[in-house]
Amino acid sequence: MDVIDAHIHCFDCEPFEQLAAEAGAANTMAALQEEMTRAGIRLAIAMGNAGEDDAQAVPLRTSWSLDGLAIPVAECLGIHEDSINASSDKDVMARFDKAMMLSNTVGLKVYAGYRPIHVADKRYHPFYDLARAHDMPVVIHTGETALPDALLKYAHPLTVDELAVQFPDVRFVMAHTGNPWLIDAVQVARKNPNVYLELSGLFAGRFDARMMAEEEKAYLDYIRMWTRYLGRYDKILYGSDWPLVNQADYQELMATVVPSAYHEDFFYHNARAVFPKIGALLGG
Ligand SMILES: [Zn+2]
Repeated sequence: MDVIDAHIHCFDCEPFEQLAAEAGAANTMAALQEEMTRAGIRLAIAMGNAGEDDAQAVPLRTSWSLDGLAIPVAECLGIHEDSINASSDKDVMARFDKAMMLSNTVGLKVYAGYRPIHVADKRYHPFYDLARAHDMPVVIHTGETALPDALLKYAHPLTVDELAVQFPDVRFVMAHTGNPWLIDAVQVARKNPNVYLELSGLFAGRFDARMMAEEEKAYLDYIRMWTRYLGRYDKILYGSDWPLVNQADYQELMATVVPSAYHEDFFYHNARAVFPKIGALLGG
């Protein structure tokens, strides 16, 4: 089966080196390409993080070159806090617009919670207008945050409801399905036709998928129950959050969450529909 991994990182930084090691991987493009081959992944979408500490980094990109790869890696441009505050600046928006024309750019990434700004705040609006103009989705971090100084209230899935209503013609992908506020995320996706869910980052580190499926049965049943309640397997995307997790193991575990009749949609077709530009990278 062909797979698209809709959420990875290509980011050189100390914590990622360590987390990759815990997941039994190396945080390099060569290791990523090897893992993608092993897991049958035809394309991955990296969330741009690089340049977090540099106010001049507009937009945030991947740390590694995405040119000439055997298996394509596409990119969502990350939005720096300084860019959000400067979104009325034409030069800042022109830099995003230009980067969105690159063939590998397929979406935008909002780091809700990590930035103390509500996702529906007016300062974000120029970015959503750009996403509409380029027919690209906006991926939004939702739920648990990795850093203690982040603020959960900005990452709660209910914040996306207001945004989805304000921008009915922009597609929004809730990364991590708001975990652990899965019910809230499901309801936002159930109500709003333009909101999608993505199941990356629910587990991290190295694990045996079968053992994990047994040990975490209650939690996995909970995910199964609420995604079933959504009743729209065409609105749920597969993603891993590599290098925080081993792609093959994560894939095996997530295959137990979605009924097999919907695997082709979940693992492949839904991402193609939500990110129209990846069709060209996959050869049409
Ligand atoms: Zn991530």
